[in-house]
Amino acid sequence: MVRTRFAPSPTGHLHIGGLRTAIFNYLFAKANNGGFILRIEDTDRERSKDEYTQAILEGLKWCGLEWDDICFQSKRNEIYEKYMNKLIEEGKAYRCYCSKERLEQLKKEQLARGENPHYDGHCRNLKEYPIDKPHVVRIKLIEEDIDFHDHVHGDLHFSYKEFDDFIIRRSDGSFMYNFTNVVDDIECGVTHVIRGDDHLTNTAKQIVLYRLLGKEPPEYAHVPMILGEDKTRLSKRHGAKSVLEYRDMGILPIALVNYLLRLGFSYGDKEIFTWDEMIKYFSLDRLNKSAAVFNPEKLIWVNAEHMKMMEPEDILVYLKDFLDKKCFEFSDDYLIEAIKTRQTKAQTLVELADEIRFYCVEPQEYEEKGIKKYLKENVKEPLEYLYKRLEEANFSKEDDLKRAFEETMEKFDLKMVKLAQPVRIALTGRTIGPGIYEMLMVLGKDESLKRFKKLLDVVYSG
Ligand code: GLU
Repeated sequence: MVRTRFAPSPTGHLHIGGLRTAIFNYLFAKANNGGFILRIEDTDRERSKDEYTQAILEGLKWCGLEWDDICFQSKRNEIYEKYMNKLIEEGKAYRCYCSKERLEQLKKEQLARGENPHYDGHCRNLKEYPIDKPHVVRIKLIEEDIDFHDHVHGDLHFSYKEFDDFIIRRSDGSFMYNFTNVVDDIECGVTHVIRGDDHLTNTAKQIVLYRLLGKEPPEYAHVPMILGEDKTRLSKRHGAKSVLEYRDMGILPIALVNYLLRLGFSYGDKEIFTWDEMIKYFSLDRLNKSAAVFNPEKLIWVNAEHMKMMEPEDILVYLKDFLDKKCFEFSDDYLIEAIKTRQTKAQTLVELADEIRFYCVEPQEYEEKGIKKYLKENVKEPLEYLYKRLEEANFSKEDDLKRAFEETMEKFDLKMVKLAQPVRIALTGRTIGPGIYEMLMVLGKDESLKRFKKLLDVVYSG
């Protein structure tokens, strides 16, 4: 059975690159009816913070990337000890007592000889290995080259000479990343490791560990980095945010997931995916080989496309975080009708909340430019006539409303915009917004006429 994992270190917020790795692992697991494991790699006690762990969990949940299992490395020391002791017993790892000074001196000499710094195996064959003397634990490097296949990069080769007897446990008793990572992947039955290609060298080292432990390594897919517009690795400098900041900007989780999936994966020219499609089409062989550039405008576009497609009741669930307090005095059905009038135009939930606020909150002021442009003296009479016609209209029938406008247009020989804009300003305070009939129908007769009358009073008798 396929098992993937996402293994973040809680030393910072969940960012775009990490989330994309999580998405690939999640989709691959789902696409193969497998399991998706979340592993918090919190062995670095100084840099790991609970607040980051919480933010990572919250970000993944918000995106809908539910895990089948979760584990925390900080609670698994006994397991790492067990694996390490076995290696020591089998003579595949050893305690090393070399002092910092000795190692520094060694490094100096090697550099002076033009060699890459590496451990010289000084403690490989000691007569005694006391446990109570300060020490690190190192592996005994096997002198065998490392070849492996990667689903993105193809066949890869590393010479064993690039490595040395590397440390698996520090002198303070904490374990090194490569070791815990391998032990946990073995223990959790991980079959596929999908992660950033900045880990390629780690992978070679990890394969050394698999060999020492006598286990088969999983399959690998190392995905290229995400770049900023200047083609350097994406960072805060490019305006990249933590995942939860995108939530606060009014991006839908499915849009963020869809956008990040496409940033590193393609399925023909297809840009917009539903969850089902993402799971159905995802495969490691469709991962892109070159780095992708993060484009915030395209993310917004993807978001707008999802807003258009989404059921308004589903939008409402997310929109509630952005709505004005006053909107909660209205029923969900009313808010859903309001959403329908603007969901194809607004690009983010923040915009949508702003653009439908008027359905719940009467405009407190009118756009000045709009008043000057559309509420001139010469439309006073037509608007008053329109008001009367609307008083007679049935607001649940669009045709009835249309007729009121059309008759007024004909009688005064006016274009629609001359009537529609003043009415729009009356209802919303603004010159841009939903279609005029839709607005009138959702707001209803009493509220619409009340607002219309108020504007006429303010402008013409004020
Ligand atoms: N904790 C590592 C990281 O956050 C995990 C890498 C991996 O997926 O193995 O980079």
